[in-house]
Amino acid sequence: MTTKTTTTEAGHHQNSMFDAVLARLDFAAKIYGLSDDVANVLRSPQKQVKVYLPVLMDNGKMQVFEGFRTIHSTVLGPSKGGIRYGMDVCDDEVKALSAWMTFKCAVANLPYGGAKGGIKCDPRALSVSELERLTKAYTTALADVFGPNKDIPAPDMGTSGREMAWIVDAYNKVHNGNFPGVVTGKPVGLGGSQGRDAATGRGVMVATLAALKKMNLDFKKVTAAVQGFGNVGLNAARLLSEQGIKICAIGDHTATFWNEKGIDIQAAIRYTKENGGILKGFTGGVEIKNTDLLTSNVDVLVPAALQNVITEEVAVKIKAKLIIEGANGPTVAEADHILQEKGIIVVPDILANSGGVTVSYFEWVQNNYGHYWTEDEVNAKHDISMNEAFEHVWNNGQKYKTTMRIGAYITALKKVELGIKARGNF
Ligand code: NAD
Repeated sequence: MTTKTTTTEAGHHQNSMFDAVLARLDFAAKIYGLSDDVANVLRSPQKQVKVYLPVLMDNGKMQVFEGFRTIHSTVLGPSKGGIRYGMDVCDDEVKALSAWMTFKCAVANLPYGGAKGGIKCDPRALSVSELERLTKAYTTALADVFGPNKDIPAPDMGTSGREMAWIVDAYNKVHNGNFPGVVTGKPVGLGGSQGRDAATGRGVMVATLAALKKMNLDFKKVTAAVQGFGNVGLNAARLLSEQGIKICAIGDHTATFWNEKGIDIQAAIRYTKENGGILKGFTGGVEIKNTDLLTSNVDVLVPAALQNVITEEVAVKIKAKLIIEGANGPTVAEADHILQEKGIIVVPDILANSGGVTVSYFEWVQNNYGHYWTEDEVNAKHDISMNEAFEHVWNNGQKYKTTMRIGAYITALKKVELGIKARGNF
C-alpha cells in the first residue's frame, strides 16, 4: 500500500479533505486486513469531470462558473451523491465527498456507488433566475454523466428540492423523455418522496437514540447542541427535541444561541421562516460565539454545517460525551485520537447522516416502480435501515476493538471488497 498516513501521524494532511479520507481508509484497511489491490482501487476515484459554465447574469453580462462531478465508485451500483453550491467547492472537496458517498452507501446497505458534485458559486448572491440558468447549464454539461442507472445526484449544502426540479427538467429536455429517477430530493408531486426533506435529520435522531441506548443514557435527561440550521441541523434539532432531548445551543452562519433551559426549536424554525432562513436576531437564547457551541456544556454535540470544524484544538475542549456527525467531514483526521482518548463516542458521518441517501434510495425505488409510499411507510423503512446500519457499525467497532468511525469504514470495506473481487479484472 502506498500509504504514508495513519490517524496518529496525519499532521501533514491538515488542508486536504481527500487526505482525511485516505487517512481513515488506510487506518481501517490495516486493522481489517484489506488487500493492497482493493485499497488501491479505492484510493482513487473512477472519474472526475470539470465543466466551465457560461451563464447569462441578470445584468446582461456573462459569467463563467466552474462545475465539478466526481464518480468515486460504481462497484456496488449506479453512483449516488449530492450537489453542493459554495465558494469553497473545489476538486479536493468533491473528490473527498464522493469517496465518503461510496462508503456511506455501503454502510447503509444500498445498491449504489458514490459520487459528488458541486458548483463554485455563492448561492446567496445569485437571483433565483440566475440559479436556475446555472443549474440547467450544469445539468446540460453533465447530461451524459448523469442517468437514472448511471449517476444520480441529490441535494447538498446550498441546494434543495428546487434545484433538483431544475435538474430533472434540463435532463428530460436533453434526453427527450421523462426520467424522474435521474435525481433524488425532488419536491413531492414531481416524483419526490414523502419524508426525504427531513430524512437526514431523522437519521441523526435515530442514530442519537441508538447511541444513547448503548451508553445507557436516558434520552429524556440529556442535552444537545446543534451547529447548522439548514436541512440537516434544523430537522435534527426539531426531531431530537420532539424526543425530549433538551437543545441548549443552535447556530448558523449568522448567529449562535445558548439557552440552558432549552431552546424552543419550533420558535426558532418560525423565526428563520420569517427572516429569510437565518437565525440572526432570534431572541430565544443568549448570543454566543460560533465556536463556543462546539465546546459547550452539553451531552450530545451535532455538527451539522461545515467540514473540519472539530480540529485538534477544539477536540481537546469538547465536553460532550457523544458526537453525531450530521455534516460530512466535521472532524479532522488528526482529532480522531483525541476524541478516542477522551472516551467520546463519535457516530461518524458515513453512518450518522446516511438517512438522507437511504430515503433518496427509497425515492428512486418509488420512481422506478411508479408507486408512492406514505410518509409513515417511508419513515418506518428508514428507521429499520438506520438501526440495522448502526448495529453493523457498532458490532464491527467492538469486533475490531476500534472506534465507530473505523468500524463504519470496515463495514463499508467488507462490502466494496466483495463487489470488487466478484466482478473480477480486466
Ligand atoms: P444547508 O445549506 O441546508 O444548511 C447549512 C447550514 O449550515 C445553514 O444553516 C448555514 O447557515 C450553516 N452554516 C454555514 N456556515 C456556517 C458556519 N460558519 N457556522 C455555523 N453554521 C454555518 O446544508 P445541509 O444540507 O443541511 O448540509 C449540512 C451538512 O450536512 C453538509 O456537510 C452536508 O454535506 C451534510 N449532509 C447533507 C445531507 C442532506 O440531505 N441535505 C445529507 C448528508 C449530509
